[in-house]
Amino acid sequence: MKYNIRECSHSELTAIITENFRAPDPDLFELARAESLRNYQGRIFIRGLVEVSNYCKRDCLYCGIRRGNKELRRYRLAPEVILDCIENGYGLGLRSFVMQGGEDPGLTDEVMTEIIREFRRRFSDASLTLSLGEKSTEVYRAFFEAGADRYLLRHETASKAHYDRLHPPEMDFDARVRCLYALKKVGFQTGAGFMVGSPFQTVEDLARDLLFLKELEPHMVGLGPFIAQEDTPFAQYPSGGAAESLVMLALTKLMLPKAMLPATTALVTILKGDRKPIFDAGANVVMPNISPLDTRKLYTLYNGKVSTGAESTEGLANLVVQIKTAGYTPEFSRGDHVEYAH
Ligand code: SAH
Repeated sequence: MKYNIRECSHSELTAIITENFRAPDPDLFELARAESLRNYQGRIFIRGLVEVSNYCKRDCLYCGIRRGNKELRRYRLAPEVILDCIENGYGLGLRSFVMQGGEDPGLTDEVMTEIIREFRRRFSDASLTLSLGEKSTEVYRAFFEAGADRYLLRHETASKAHYDRLHPPEMDFDARVRCLYALKKVGFQTGAGFMVGSPFQTVEDLARDLLFLKELEPHMVGLGPFIAQEDTPFAQYPSGGAAESLVMLALTKLMLPKAMLPATTALVTILKGDRKPIFDAGANVVMPNISPLDTRKLYTLYNGKVSTGAESTEGLANLVVQIKTAGYTPEFSRGDHVEYAH
């Protein structure tokens, strides 16, 4: 096969990425789409996303909610508000939810565990994904035992030297990797992921991302272009490209054919709302925002973030139409990875 990605060496992957960045090969996308159809029959899984807090103790240089951003008004949703958002999404038919936030010491692990427990009590047939950053194995285990199913923690870049240029000195690539392996061991369906076109990134770095994914074998991979945020140290850097992100998405699908791949908001943003090319490259998850309207504009990881509201019947109906028009089947179930049949 032309793209026997899983057998490729680092230098072969580098060459494939380089060629496809120069001129994307339609065959690559056809193969990725075929894997998506084979493993998930063209279903697109819908997960309702609640952005629980934009407080963050971290200072990642690219991120708009970094602690060093003094321009940002901070919010933290109360537990009952988080559960109300989910109740509303559940009423609209959603059965898969994501709670994402900055690493907010004010939203303690104990409170979070209680929220998860309450979620599990009230929505027993729905799945819960968390994306709350680096925690100890004990905390991950407490979250899992309270009833969370999945955890997203992007590795951001698999090149240690590159990681150091995107993060302050107190952050460490090895610590992040340890978290990812701990999450898998605890039993979570685990998500890694990276940005495309982040400052200082090379094609060699991207080839390393693919090899890292092969080794970790995460159940989900979140991938999108870097987009500058005006109040960060990277404000002046150019954004990652849509074409490049789609190439990396298709290559990721070939590397991990069964992985759940979201059409990330950053990629949707740079494609001005058009999800079809993202599905055609192998993505099979969408995560519409169901956070309260008044806090949504405060979760500004980057500039120009699109917001497809699915908190309303109309917003969700529009998304469903977009999925069908693109030739795919909207799916409202728990949305587990094929190897986690419930
Ligand atoms: N704190 C949580 C989740 C919030 S950030 C965590 O660490 O997982 C979620 C993701 O947004 C990050 O992993 C990062 O890859 C992405 N992100 C942050 N800033 C971005 C930017 N400027 N452009 C594109 N993606 C960004």
